[in-house]
Amino acid sequence: MKTTFAENESLILIVDDEEFIRMQLRLALKREGYQIAEAQNGREALSLCEQLHPDIILLDAIMPDMDGFECCTRLQSLECNQDIPVLMITGLDDQVSVDRAFEVGAIDFVTKPIHWPVLRQRVKRLISQSQLQKLLESANQELQRLVRVDQLTQVANRRRFEEYLDQEWQRMLREQLPISVIIGDVDFFKLYNDTYGHQVGDRCLQQVAQAIKNTIKRPADLVARYGGEEFAVILPHTDIEGAMILAQIICSVVRKLAIPHSNSPVSSYVTISTGVATLIPTLSSNSQELVGMADRALYQAKTAGRDRAQFI
Ligand code: GH3
Ligand code: MG
Ligand code: MG
Repeated sequence: MKTTFAENESLILIVDDEEFIRMQLRLALKREGYQIAEAQNGREALSLCEQLHPDIILLDAIMPDMDGFECCTRLQSLECNQDIPVLMITGLDDQVSVDRAFEVGAIDFVTKPIHWPVLRQRVKRLISQSQLQKLLESANQELQRLVRVDQLTQVANRRRFEEYLDQEWQRMLREQLPISVIIGDVDFFKLYNDTYGHQVGDRCLQQVAQAIKNTIKRPADLVARYGGEEFAVILPHTDIEGAMILAQIICSVVRKLAIPHSNSPVSSYVTISTGVATLIPTLSSNSQELVGMADRALYQAKTAGRDRAQFI
């Protein structure tokens, strides 16, 4: 069985127990420039579908063992089946059979004996619809990503930060568990830009963001760019001791990046100050109080000399 196909040639999986019908379909569709794979029963169809990810499946309704309806149902539940359109080919055109074909997930059907010009047009239309659908889905996913991700640093943006904080605040309120926030602010960053230029400043922010991201290990934790040279970390189910340890690690990993900052009054490298706060949510408090507390802690870290973590 051929397993690699040219990119611009769509692959059609033909499923029919009758060799003669498969051959007719193969010849007719090959002439249209399609790649063809064939299965002679439902089981083979399922396995070929997983292996080859065809662009469309032409499925015979009446087959021994597993008929086309059952096969279609099983195809829908395959993990790899990302909406591969199934065109049923059936000798049955009574209302019950037609309804059943659509119920099990077929996108359309044609009846036997095959009317070739109709089949040709349906296959063409279904493939192009499915390709368009895939394009739309991936464009949509990319849009979803763009509205949540900061373009410069590729960590979550402020909007995502607010949304996630609200969500996790509610979750911790229900579970009566602590939630912590760390806010980090790069020290003397205006001076850094003045010394090295804005573009070098941008690269510095990218490195700092990545370093912070690398220190965060739990899947529920979120790193975001909070503002210009400010980053925030949301730590659900984390108490003040745990959050302080992380905040100190963040200061240390940024220092260890050893990005030269020759005019910084506190170090010869770029450093960051962090403020940490923890609350167990109650009905009378809100997540903005937690952020306000972390902000005050950050201010204290700055006035105490920078390049350090401070909690409230
Ligand atoms: P402090 O230690 O008190 O935080 O001093 P600072 O200079 O870091 O603080 P300040 O708020 O005065 O300056 C922040 C600077 O961050 C000023 C601004 O130009 C710079 N900045 C903000 N966003 C960006 C960005 O996207 N790229 C670059 N290169 N710089 C940025
Ligand atoms: Mg700042
Ligand atoms: Mg700063």
